[in-house]
Amino acid sequence: MSYDLVIKNGLLITASESFIADVAISGERIAAIGTDLSGGREIDARGLYVLPGAIDGHVHLTDPTYPPYSIPTADSFGSGTVAAAFGGVTTVIDFAQPAPGQSLIEGLDRRQEDADGHAVVDYALHLTLRDRDPARLAEVPAVFQRGVPSFKFFMAYEGYRLDDVAMFRAMEAVAAHDGLAIVHAENFDIITELRRRLRAERKFGPRWHVAACPSVAEGEAVHRALALAHLAGARVLIYHQSCIEGLREIRLAKARGQAAFGEVCVQYLVLTDEVYERDDLTAQALAISPPLRGKEHQAALWQGLADGTLDIVSTDHNPRHRQDQPLHHPPGTSSIETRLALMHTFGVKAGRLSLNRWVEVCCSRPARVFGLTGKGRLAPNYDADIVLFDPTVEVALTTGTLHSSIGFCTYEGMRTIGFPVMTISRGEAIVENGNFVGKPGRGRFVERGF
Ligand SMILES: [Zn+2]
Repeated sequence: MSYDLVIKNGLLITASESFIADVAISGERIAAIGTDLSGGREIDARGLYVLPGAIDGHVHLTDPTYPPYSIPTADSFGSGTVAAAFGGVTTVIDFAQPAPGQSLIEGLDRRQEDADGHAVVDYALHLTLRDRDPARLAEVPAVFQRGVPSFKFFMAYEGYRLDDVAMFRAMEAVAAHDGLAIVHAENFDIITELRRRLRAERKFGPRWHVAACPSVAEGEAVHRALALAHLAGARVLIYHQSCIEGLREIRLAKARGQAAFGEVCVQYLVLTDEVYERDDLTAQALAISPPLRGKEHQAALWQGLADGTLDIVSTDHNPRHRQDQPLHHPPGTSSIETRLALMHTFGVKAGRLSLNRWVEVCCSRPARVFGLTGKGRLAPNYDADIVLFDPTVEVALTTGTLHSSIGFCTYEGMRTIGFPVMTISRGEAIVENGNFVGKPGRGRFVERGF
């Protein structure tokens, strides 16, 4: 039998095993894994790793409202997903964030209009619930029917944050449909108070960011979010875990049998709070929330990722352009293209993660946690989302070599060992030989469910 496309002799790496084989694709799906398979097009992957396409379950593209400032994200669904494709990412999950008073379905419609015809890899949406009006909860079943089974709740940021009661009620509504509650967990009242005191002492800028957002205030909020989800009976994912205190809470929740998951973003694993001492525009751009923390926290995050306390690695990709009036760089990091390579370099090559765990946290486990039932595995009938990764090529990370539409690189000057060299999305090679060769706007909205 002849297939449309066969990737030959690569080292297939899945969440559980590594072996040399051919992958055959018919149409948009994987048709067979085996040896001596042949097809209309054959790609020699000898010496390369063959992985399921990476999934980034936390990105912000084409978003003029992203908190804490209403300054648009630099990357659109177009530019951001091209950068993603170069980085071996075949699915991203962004957010519909209906304004208070707006119907959830209308918010979802508007957001799909932002993405459709622009995204070049497949995309899905989480629904950010910002409105405590009970009328919104009545719309939750309709959101599920649209293939959006995950709801994001902010415990921080004016205009976004929900109080405990509103979040608890929303978690119950999510639980009633067996959905996923996702939480940005920080104690915002305490952060606001600490920041007010620092300002009164004329302590401004990135140098004071960690003092305003201490890890204890994050750990307290993680505890509360997990406790409320436990009471509501909702499965829950804690976003961008940055600290020892939060990890401890996730570990306890898992130990009591709760369906609790942890995400870490690559910047917390690769950068530390030392960058804030520069107090310059770069430091301002890295003044994200929760903040980058010290080495002891970073070591604990790597340990938590290796031992399963943390389930997935995402990016929270949300870089924004420098503002010239007044001179200021709004916070936001860019990792949508560099995550797989950075995790290979600082995880696998540094001896912190096995090859299989690397694939699990970047590619396979996100599909399970987010309900992407047709993606994340190298197996027949799954979408043919596949990355060829050269584990030996060295790449210097700098603005000029990356594809995001921003004028700075979060990891400027770092070198990766290994980088994706070909990306296949639903059976179609979209990045090869250093070029994007897919059709503009070819990405599709993916309905999810558990
Ligand atoms: Zn985010």
